[in-house]
Amino acid sequence: MFTNQSAERPATTADNKRVPFNDLAIQWREIRDEVTREFEEVFARSAFSSGPFVKSFENEMAAYLGTKHAVAVNSGTSALHLAMAAAGIGPGDEVLVPAHTFIATLWGVLYVGATPVLCDVDDATGTIDADAAAGRITPRTKAIIPVHIYGQPADMEAVNKLAVRHSLLVVEDNAQAIGARWNGKALGTIGQIGCFSFYPGKNLGAAGEGGLVCTDDDTLAERVRVLHNHGQSERYTHIEIGFNYRMDGLQAVVLRHKLRRLDDWTSRRKSLAQRYQAGLSGLPLKVPAVQNQDHVWHLFVVRTPLRDELRTHLQQADIETGLHYPIPCHRQPCFQHLALAGDAYPHSDLWASEGLSLPLFYGMTEAQVDRVVREIRRFYARGEAISV
Ligand SMILES: *Cc1c(COP(=O)(O)O)cnc(C)c1O
Repeated sequence: MFTNQSAERPATTADNKRVPFNDLAIQWREIRDEVTREFEEVFARSAFSSGPFVKSFENEMAAYLGTKHAVAVNSGTSALHLAMAAAGIGPGDEVLVPAHTFIATLWGVLYVGATPVLCDVDDATGTIDADAAAGRITPRTKAIIPVHIYGQPADMEAVNKLAVRHSLLVVEDNAQAIGARWNGKALGTIGQIGCFSFYPGKNLGAAGEGGLVCTDDDTLAERVRVLHNHGQSERYTHIEIGFNYRMDGLQAVVLRHKLRRLDDWTSRRKSLAQRYQAGLSGLPLKVPAVQNQDHVWHLFVVRTPLRDELRTHLQQADIETGLHYPIPCHRQPCFQHLALAGDAYPHSDLWASEGLSLPLFYGMTEAQVDRVVREIRRFYARGEAISV
């Protein structure tokens, strides 16, 4: 079964080199000179919290996304919280969210006292299944949060159709798909509010924490701006109970210099992903494909029932992999009191138990991709896959 000539080939030197899951130092080397120079300016002007560098970053992000308003904040989680708060969502309201996502998608909903209502995801893309979501709508449903997971758009046509029919607010969790497009428009600008994360490992990553809220709606934007800065309309006038969710000046500098390179870095990710797709074709594992118009490959997640065995095999070959995310939301210990577990989210369960994230990062070489492919082929050729 699964015979493969390369399985018999002796290991070469390149074959023994460790392949990390990510290497952010490669990005740093490219921006280092300009960023350190600009850091001097931040210190000289004491522009540490919000300030001119953050303002410039907001303007550049608004232009990049083609949106009217962009408010830089201190994390993606804060962005999601502000989106819910600015929209006036609160106790008694329900918000539709996918069961397969990073947990922070739910935090914003919970922070305002609303109820996250989980929906299963599409088997092929891992993004929210609009039909499943339709079945969970009640008179209390106020909003839906599609997550563009791994860098691929959710089916925004289906989401928008559902939203229009039931007057739902659409908040995009675009922590993982910055730069991806839907019908020519940037993701994050398709719904009423878009939320971004600049956590270091994201496609656009800060040197620490960061996030952003974008919207074309003047009222929502103003509310986000006030809430993220202590509820201030002007200095020391607090018109409502707010938060301290401002972005640091130093983070804005890092992000501005990376933003200029983002499209180049994304095309590199796309070409590495294509190399994986070609190299892994024909094997008995599910290889991710572009199903919804675009994909910026935040993660390259293959699926196999032999996930744990394959992961161990790659680990022994000095290839680092990741799990995103091994426990779906409905099985998280913090939600046990809600009795959400059960068989209601079969595709979410499959993504959690079968998904394996392969290394894919800006600066990764083709030789590294080829080595990962070779080791996966070896795994299937050697029968490690058959003995279990
Ligand atoms: C990273 C991430 C977040 C949270 O962003 P932070 O900046 O880490 O707070 C939210 N949703 C998704 C899907 C993410 O991947």
